[in-house]
Amino acid sequence: MPATKPPLDILLCSPRGFCAGVDRAIQIVELALERFGAPVYVRHEIVHNRYVVDGLKAKGAVFVESLDEIPDTDQPVIFSAHGVAKAVPAAAAVRHFFQLDATCPLVTKVHREAEIHFRKGREIVLIGHAGHPEVEGTMGQLPTGAITLIETEADARAFQPKSPDNLAFITQTTLSVDDTAAIVAILAERFPSVVAPHKEDICYATTNRQEAVKRVARAVDAMLVIGAPNSSNSQRLREVAERAGCPVALLVQRAADIDWSRLEGIRRVGITAGASAPEVLVEEVIDAFAERYDVKVEVVTAAEEAIVFNLPRALRDAAE
Ligand code: SF4
Repeated sequence: MPATKPPLDILLCSPRGFCAGVDRAIQIVELALERFGAPVYVRHEIVHNRYVVDGLKAKGAVFVESLDEIPDTDQPVIFSAHGVAKAVPAAAAVRHFFQLDATCPLVTKVHREAEIHFRKGREIVLIGHAGHPEVEGTMGQLPTGAITLIETEADARAFQPKSPDNLAFITQTTLSVDDTAAIVAILAERFPSVVAPHKEDICYATTNRQEAVKRVARAVDAMLVIGAPNSSNSQRLREVAERAGCPVALLVQRAADIDWSRLEGIRRVGITAGASAPEVLVEEVIDAFAERYDVKVEVVTAAEEAIVFNLPRALRDAAE
């Protein structure tokens, strides 16, 4: 380590990290453990972050991918923030599981939109990424074939609906705002009567985090996004930084993952965190920079957030 550290400006994006949906989901697992004791079963990673999942495992949460992995039990069975297909709570009910739903209310909003369009007889397009649990959960709200998934602008151009005059679209909550706008523009041009969500499906947290990255990305030599590779909103933040012209945009899970060779010669670095990444990991990354550089931290704020979601009724009194 050199005796004199080189100077480095850190531009810290705000908002960053936990959103209200992630906060609520983690609280649901923690309160369930407090109130009902271990184990509590959680279907899928409660949020896409290994640090969070490992912390909850240590307290007695058991993570499973399928209900079949859960023995007959009276202990709580929790569904993750990403939401689940209708078949999942139905199967849990058959086994008389005590269900706690940690689906983010903003994902549930998209589920309800899909149901309303279906009831109105509309053909539904979902803009999202194949294989993501939120997409599986949203598509699983309706019978197979009721929703067509569109991932790219090319998909939107090639799409041949059965009912071009009776079409509606919904989206995954954690998409790139700009990519989605481009896909929607193609659909709207091809199908002028396509029905859009009353209020954006891309959630406030995704939008605000991307906006903060855009403000910082042009002014820095590198941008670090703290988040998991399977976290959609974190991946989008990295892409947003890259597209805004940031020469180096890296997604890291925590400080130990930083490839310092990619950061040689930098004078200004931007830091943000996906909606499922805890602040402790941001602090860890800032500390790692402070070991190598003489750092000055400046916060760049794109929006203030004050959203809090209610807990499920079964846990509300436990929280008081
Ligand atoms: S990213 Fe948005 S939709 Fe997903 S949990 Fe957070 S608030 Fe809810």
